Amino acid sequence: MKKSNVNHISIIGGGPGGLMLGLLLQQQSIPFTIYEHSFENIHADSGGSLDILQNHKRI
Ligand SMILES: Cc1cc2nc3c(=O)[nH]c(=O)nc-3n(C[C@H](O)[C@H](O)[C@H](O)COP(=O)(O)OP(=O)(O)OC[C@H]3O[C@@H](n4cnc5c(N)ncnc54)[C@H](O)[C@@H]3O)c2cc1C
Repeated sequence: MKKSNVNHISIIGGGPGGLMLGLLLQQQSIPFTIYEHSFENIHADSGGSLDILQNHKRI
């Protein structure tokens, strides 16, 4: 993707997928905004934990 064709990217959802996409865009200096609808009660409808295991640490 050519940077010159990108004005601003909207990421819908601040889960692991959205946050990882944001990190990758930041590394490419591509502007973005993450929209997350459940910041006020983030645990209300989500899982109880996310374990980062040894084989995930290379990310
Ligand atoms: C109980 C439970 C335990 C788990 N434990 C583990 C674990 O230990 N290790 C592991 O690797 N995985 C675990 N998982 C799986 C892991 O949670 C998912 O694979 C991961 O969260 C998927 O990430 P995602 O970004 O695709 O989606 P999600 O995490 O679902 O993120 C999507 C986000 O988008 C937001 N959203 C949705 N619609 C809108 C909208 N219209 N506007 C704004 N925001 C919106 C949601 O609020 C949410 O925060 C677990 C899952 C559950 C349910």
